[in-house]
Amino acid sequence: MVRYVYDFHEGGRDMADLLGGKGANLAEMTRLGLPVPPGFIVTTEACRAYLATGAEPEGLSREVSRHLSALEESAGRRLGRADDPLLVSVRSGARFSMPGMMETVLDIGLNDDSVPGLAGVSGDERFAWDSYRRLVQMFGSTVMGVDAALFEDALAVLKDERGVPDDVHLDAGDLARLVETYKELIRRETGESFPQSPAEQLQRAILAVFESWNGERARLYRRREHIPDDLGTAVTVQRMVFGNLGHDSGSGVAFTRDPATGRPGLYGDYLPDAQGEDVVAGIRNTVPLAELERLDPRSYRRLRDHMGTLERHYRDLCDIEFTIERGTLWMLQTRVGKRTAEAAFTLATELADEGLITSREGLARVSGDGLARLMFPRFDTSATGDPLAHGIPASPGAAVGAAVFDSAEAVRRAAAGEKVVLVRQETTPDDLPGMVAAQAVLTSRGGKTSHAAVVARGMGKVCVCGAEELTVDVGRRRFTTRDGTVVEEGAVVSVDGSAGAVYSGAAPLVDSEVMRYLETGETSGGVVASVARVLKEADGVRRLEVRANADTPEDAARARRFGAQGIGLCRTEHMFLGERRKLVEDMILAPDDAARDRALDALLPLQRRDFAGILEAMDGLPVTIRLLDPPLHEFLPDRTDLAVRVAAAGARGERPDPHDAELLDAVNRMHEENPMLGLRGVRLGLVVPGLVAMQVRAVAEAVVERTVAGGSPLAEIMVPLVGAVEELRLARAEVERVLAEVSEASGVPVTCPVGTMIELPRAALTAGRIAEEAEFFSFGTNDLTQTTWGFSRDDVEAEFFSAYLDKGVFPVSPFETLDREGVGRLIGIAVAEGRTARPGLKIGVCGEHGGDPDSVRFFHDAGLDYVSCSPFRVPVARLEAGRAVS
Ligand code: ADP
Ligand code: MG
Ligand code: MG
Repeated sequence: MVRYVYDFHEGGRDMADLLGGKGANLAEMTRLGLPVPPGFIVTTEACRAYLATGAEPEGLSREVSRHLSALEESAGRRLGRADDPLLVSVRSGARFSMPGMMETVLDIGLNDDSVPGLAGVSGDERFAWDSYRRLVQMFGSTVMGVDAALFEDALAVLKDERGVPDDVHLDAGDLARLVETYKELIRRETGESFPQSPAEQLQRAILAVFESWNGERARLYRRREHIPDDLGTAVTVQRMVFGNLGHDSGSGVAFTRDPATGRPGLYGDYLPDAQGEDVVAGIRNTVPLAELERLDPRSYRRLRDHMGTLERHYRDLCDIEFTIERGTLWMLQTRVGKRTAEAAFTLATELADEGLITSREGLARVSGDGLARLMFPRFDTSATGDPLAHGIPASPGAAVGAAVFDSAEAVRRAAAGEKVVLVRQETTPDDLPGMVAAQAVLTSRGGKTSHAAVVARGMGKVCVCGAEELTVDVGRRRFTTRDGTVVEEGAVVSVDGSAGAVYSGAAPLVDSEVMRYLETGETSGGVVASVARVLKEADGVRRLEVRANADTPEDAARARRFGAQGIGLCRTEHMFLGERRKLVEDMILAPDDAARDRALDALLPLQRRDFAGILEAMDGLPVTIRLLDPPLHEFLPDRTDLAVRVAAAGARGERPDPHDAELLDAVNRMHEENPMLGLRGVRLGLVVPGLVAMQVRAVAEAVVERTVAGGSPLAEIMVPLVGAVEELRLARAEVERVLAEVSEASGVPVTCPVGTMIELPRAALTAGRIAEEAEFFSFGTNDLTQTTWGFSRDDVEAEFFSAYLDKGVFPVSPFETLDREGVGRLIGIAVAEGRTARPGLKIGVCGEHGGDPDSVRFFHDAGLDYVSCSPFRVPVARLEAGRAVS
């Protein structure tokens, strides 16, 4: 027989799966001997059974009655008995805290007969009627489904009639009338009477709490917090204690330390003469906890002692809910408290210094996301007004600038020294220069893995995307908010990428001390000292190395300051943009080999200079250089634009510009329906004569140059998009040939390991063969995810991703967090077979996932040697790599 109910005495904190966090912690406090009103817990298993069948599980009501009898026995009162009623609360509480997302009903057990009884034993008639009206109101809305606003309206009307500002000024007679009004309201809305039977109230309240697991609020919250939908909630039934029994009573919430900073010292709010829900509801102003010391020093001291007990017991910051009934303190809830990123780091070292935890445990309690938040400057939100709009917080930080509506304008204004925010419906690779020039990117469409979001995160640039409340009119160079506010080009806006908010004007900024520390190594005390210590701990324990994705000497140098142990991905395509585009065009359009060679010869010294700069910045550390990857037509002008230009010339009766005509011809020739699956990666190298040779020569000559200059350049050459060992064998032969040539010519022996990206399922599945030719592997998880799922990262976002997330096809985008089940399996196969074929094969990962906390943990478990991520994510990856060792 399954058991559905546990008394507080029978539970403990390790039973949170079954009893919910709230129930398990109430049981734990009971065990610790703290003053907790007695009660029992209906398990999450009962909830799951109820939700699955729609019927109360067999035996539940019998168990509940048995535990209720025991509760009545110990209280010496009976639920709802007319002369001296026992009242209970019926509280929700799932495995993971979902504050305020589900229902709780207080004062269960009161009815028309027992109100006078409660008035008699408490000696307070007003209190009795106030409790009853609270019950009818809460039960009516949460259990019987009456719109809560109707009760609020009725209360407001009564206060108006009586000319009083708040409910404490209503007397017993007023409240008795209010109960009648409420009951009438319930009859009118539901055709049913408020149930007078205490047993029926209790049973229906329990089922209503079960149901609230699937309430809209709760579901939304779970999706946002990635809490599974099938856990269910437990239900706690607990004897009521009363904070609304006059001035020697009250309710409050408290933290054992400041949850904003992590600094020691009690912290909280107290509301005299009130029940707990009044405190959070904000209906009256609370007083700081310190005031309680004056009002009721005895209760305050006891509270302080209990909080000390809890913090030592949980060895962490705790938050609690408490109620004082006529000078007696009762503990109603505790849990390990939510905290800001700053508080998390401060606590990690403070608690270690106090000997409560080890520094290893401290490391486990911070997060890479938290560190990322601390790296960005932030707005002083106490000084900002209401936001213009909300969007998705895609890349954290705070930025201020003039709104501009296209890339060219962003570049122009930035060059003139102006700070700008690039506003687009969504961005494309063409917007890259503007994104680089801007302080922040704001889009009205797209999700967390849209182009804008991914690129901005990679650059450490602030981004809010998918701000659907905005209508972006690029043509008229302005955007409009939902309430009709128009923001013209040039107007200053503030973008909060951590909160996903946009403000009008320049919101005041606060600098990030953590960033200054990472850049300079200066620790100024406070949270910075904690961050430094925790990172050191992580570096001491982690097995994964952390490299950076960097394409310029500046990025390489920054990555190195941030602790990168090399470059895991140096993309060479960025070196083909800007003024060099003309040379690239010449190479692509070359009518014969000689012309192509001339174009390649012109590119060679430019690439060599790029590589030499990067190798210098990373001197002594490995730099993995990837050969050209994207389809060549990406370096040519847009096909439609060209066609329009050529056609327009024709319409004017002119001959089109011959260069345009030639370009259009080439673009048409190279046009592919699916360029992502087309002529790119290693395929380019195998069909465009001289391309690989030129790039390898540039690398090799840069190595020679650095060696001669006394450096230790450690270049590695990486071949992209290999699907078959034959491709790699051919490419590698070419690489080796050029390396030998340069060695010979320079007299400096150049040896570069040659490896490949594993970014096609076929590569993963034939990794054993590929390892014969590859001296290292690097998983390109972006392409591997695209080709494994068969959807394109650039195209899917707006279309069906949000629907897929809603429908739970995946809980989080596989471009954000690695899909362990599918892509992860391919990685597992490739690691195993690669290392079997070539023991000690060095294996890393480059791409967005390399800086994603969850994914880093997977890569650690999968036995990789390193992760590579954007420079700004390097500290995050170091931290997460340390946390992965558990
Ligand atoms: P939530 O999960 O939304 O915080 P709770 O179950 O904690 O909901 O209930 C809300 C408030 O109701 C609590 O903060 C507490 O003050 C009050 N409350 C709950 N149970 C009791 C009780 N047995 N006696 C007095 N107050 C209670
Ligand atoms: Mg609570
Ligand atoms: Mg790729």
